[in-house]
Amino acid sequence: MKIIRVTSHVLQYDLPEELGYSQQFYSRRTAHLVEIETDEGITGWGECFGPGNVALANKGIVEKVIQPMVLGDDPMDRDVIWHKVYNLLRDHGQKGMPMQALSGVDIALWDIAGKVAGLPLHKLIGGAHRDRISAYGYGMMLKRESIEDHVMRFRDEAAAIIGMGFVATKMKVGLGPRADVRMCEAVAVGTGDAGRFMVDANHCYTTSDAFYVGRALEDLGAYWFEEPIAPEDLDGYRELRSGLKVNISGGEAEFNRWGWRSILENRGLDIAQPEVCALGGISEYLRVLTLCHAHFTPVINHVWGSAVAVATNLHLLAAMPALPGGLTPWEPMLEFDTTHNLFRDELLKEPLDIRGQVARNHGMVAIPQGPGLGIEPDREFIRAYEVA
Ligand code: CA
Repeated sequence: MKIIRVTSHVLQYDLPEELGYSQQFYSRRTAHLVEIETDEGITGWGECFGPGNVALANKGIVEKVIQPMVLGDDPMDRDVIWHKVYNLLRDHGQKGMPMQALSGVDIALWDIAGKVAGLPLHKLIGGAHRDRISAYGYGMMLKRESIEDHVMRFRDEAAAIIGMGFVATKMKVGLGPRADVRMCEAVAVGTGDAGRFMVDANHCYTTSDAFYVGRALEDLGAYWFEEPIAPEDLDGYRELRSGLKVNISGGEAEFNRWGWRSILENRGLDIAQPEVCALGGISEYLRVLTLCHAHFTPVINHVWGSAVAVATNLHLLAAMPALPGGLTPWEPMLEFDTTHNLFRDELLKEPLDIRGQVARNHGMVAIPQGPGLGIEPDREFIRAYEVA
């Protein structure tokens, strides 16, 4: 079997309302899908992390840089292909966009391998340690409104997300430490005893501000404090983890086994959040997962993007061994973005219907069972939203 074409599909639409996190506001939803065609008619799908113009630039890397390296290769040789592409791009990007681009290609190759074997991705990896997984809902995005409006909206939205059936909820912060603590207090009230809540700073704090917010989160009983400071600040992460009782999480902005080796050896994370569509695809995710478990660091995948990314992560979460195991072991969760996303809800011929499953099954979601990723994107839908 040979690879005959690698195509990027960048999809985009205007969101019904502007959304924000600690770094910026945005008003468009983007998805970057990768399609790999073979001479035997089997097609694989993958996804690259990266919004807006980053997706357009990554399309150039996928089609103009990676495609010529892999045309004619056997798609079953995905580990050989991974290392060939990585070695040829090493001088130009061991992190960032080249790795995001390679991620989508690698995921599509795993989809092909599953279709060839007639096995779902989780079976190809080694089997499902669980046949369903609990989901947490994130929302509570920043808007151009007053702190008072944020506080009231966040309290109501936390209660609404828990009311949808999600087992936990996650909020954004980023208006400044004092305002952020007020919003966290509101989310603690909105969540109540019905679930847990987590706080995502998208690396907006100095270490001292992170200590200020983190101490408040200890009192409020938050489950984790995500990306409190810049991912490059390894010393800061280690200080926060040793000085705060709340779990410190992060890692979505880290890439490949060598980047992950550094943050794990630094002992700065209670919970690791690898992003399979950015760090190097499924091949590299599995190596990073092994590294995390070798350091006894539990993993809750970072999930962002279209139904392709959600399906990929459902398989990976199913195939993740319990750490360390037991009668009632620590369990990972599926991250689910509750904000408007047609590329997650309407891309597939048979939608995953995460919201419906969560509502019906007390926050639990089933693992796809079809070959490969177990999904079929709707080509008419892709044509309708494709901008590049
Ligand atoms: Ca995050």
